[in-house]
Amino acid sequence: MNSEAIHEDSSMREPVDDDKTSADYYFDSYSHFGIHEEMLKDVVRTKTYQNVIYRNTFLFKDKIVLDVGAGTGILSLFCAKAGAKHVYAVECSQMADMAKEIVEANGYSNVITVLKGKIEELDLPVPQVDIIISEWMGYFLLYENMLNTVLYARDKWLVNNGIVLPDNASLYLTAIEDAEYKEDKIEFWNNVYGFDMSCIRKQSIMEPLVDTVDQNQIVTNCQLLKTMDISKMTSGDASFTAPFKLVAERDDYVHALVAYFDVAFTVCHKLTGFSTGPRSRNTHWKQTVLYLEEVLTICEGESITGSMTVAQNKKNPRDVDITLKYSLNGQRCVISRTQQYKMR
Ligand code: SAH
Repeated sequence: MNSEAIHEDSSMREPVDDDKTSADYYFDSYSHFGIHEEMLKDVVRTKTYQNVIYRNTFLFKDKIVLDVGAGTGILSLFCAKAGAKHVYAVECSQMADMAKEIVEANGYSNVITVLKGKIEELDLPVPQVDIIISEWMGYFLLYENMLNTVLYARDKWLVNNGIVLPDNASLYLTAIEDAEYKEDKIEFWNNVYGFDMSCIRKQSIMEPLVDTVDQNQIVTNCQLLKTMDISKMTSGDASFTAPFKLVAERDDYVHALVAYFDVAFTVCHKLTGFSTGPRSRNTHWKQTVLYLEEVLTICEGESITGSMTVAQNKKNPRDVDITLKYSLNGQRCVISRTQQYKMR
């Protein structure tokens, strides 16, 4: 999915027909094709789903599939082409109308049924499905919280021993040198045309930055924080505290920790998936950068140890609260701190 949907500036948009204003898109940006264009053109994302489906037709043959959050219907079309018996494509935004037209235009009306509405609010014409497929991942994996919708659908409709695609998601953490960008994004507020705006610095450092990180900036190892088995987990498992130990691979400065995720489809004939990490080909998810208050001066072999706590925001469940505890007890730098972040 495309987390930017929530933040998109609707005033930039041209309405597609007369009864829609920019205000409609503000609350429902998945209705606009631009978001879907970006996701479809993310070939790492879309090609992986296509390969999973086309190269594992044995999974789909004569099976009933539920596509959770179908968007343009692309995943449903892949499944239909791979021989699924029937596909229910559920989409809550106005894009559902386009998905219906697309299904018809491609001659799949007898295989794919598009249902417009929220998964949580509609009924399926069948009591059970064999496969649930969804592209629910947000920035920092969990932003926008669509995972809950997939788990809801799984618990309500998935047959015993049914499969969830993807069925595995893992969150990772590493540390980077990022002097230039920290200066530009964070320290900028200390002196704006000669004025102290450091009250905004406090806000800006709390907001994780979604951006691409160059692999040359990586200073430490990459640590697995959390693995989720989408076919078994509960929604509570998406809130957790995970310890980490990041060992420096060279002498350098550390300005930020960086989070990213991998997803995997473990039921494929050959394990298939993709990574959104800085060493992999870029995706529209980029990486999530958490700036540290002070610069850490780290020597090769020294480690930053700590824990990351991830929780749904109580007021707005689509937002994610992150608490980072970290310490470095090094030759040139001794530091121990807790920082709060909020994805919103
Ligand atoms: N499957 C498409 C779209 C993925 S984006 C593709 O891979 O290109 C996720 C989609 O899920 C969005 O179009 C969004 O409107 C839809 N969505 C999010 N929450 C939903 C819910 N609770 N019920 C139905 N659709 C939902």
